[in-house]
Amino acid sequence: MDLDFTFNKYGKLCQTIANSGYSECTVKSYFSESHNHVIILRHDVDRIPGRALEMARMENEYGLLSTYYFRTIDEVFKPDIIRKIANLGHEIGYHYEVLDKMNGNHEAAIKLFEKELEKLREIAPIVTACMHGNPLKSWSNKDIWNYYDFTQYNIIGEPYISIDYNKVKYFTDTGRSWNNTKYSVKDKTNFNQLRLENSDKLIQLIKNETYPEICILTHPNRWSETRIQWIKEFIFQNIKNIIKIGINTYK
Ligand SMILES: [Zn+2]
Repeated sequence: MDLDFTFNKYGKLCQTIANSGYSECTVKSYFSESHNHVIILRHDVDRIPGRALEMARMENEYGLLSTYYFRTIDEVFKPDIIRKIANLGHEIGYHYEVLDKMNGNHEAAIKLFEKELEKLREIAPIVTACMHGNPLKSWSNKDIWNYYDFTQYNIIGEPYISIDYNKVKYFTDTGRSWNNTKYSVKDKTNFNQLRLENSDKLIQLIKNETYPEICILTHPNRWSETRIQWIKEFIFQNIKNIIKIGINTYK
């Protein structure tokens, strides 16, 4: 059986990107250099940082560079792992959740933003930041930028704010498929997202070069290296998805 959302499948995705007519880049590079016909690769490291390192190594084998957004919670903030990923040439970004942590208080949240950013900058240069989505909160972490300006903190871009999704087709690995809006509460963009039921469809779309600019967001913890991990993740995501359906229905 050809399981989806495995490292094996991710390798096929990497190979397709590497062999395609697209150029490929990090979020930082997308904001700072001119690109067309490009695939932006981005990851949110929400948990199991070791798996992000494995993914980073795999991309490196295919000559790909991507951006890894790290949360600063103890479970994820592992300097050794972050350093190893940065040493492969990947970009490290800050996956902030300061409004969640400060219960919606934006003054306290921006102070924490500064502090956590500094902590990450001790390990790697950070020039982009991307919000973490918590489906259980009534606000979105990026709402902090209604009060403050991230460029003041030497951040050149925030993927949810600075990328024009009219131009860039966005794909995220939600609900064991791509762009499954039934399951995505916060990490969706406001533009029409194309739902793909499996990674083979995404691979085909890249081969066909259907869209000039693409951004692919993956969560390394949702991709399994072994069959046991796959089963564990399958159960975990199913429980989470039931909760998310509840939230979306309630909203
Ligand atoms: Zn996240």
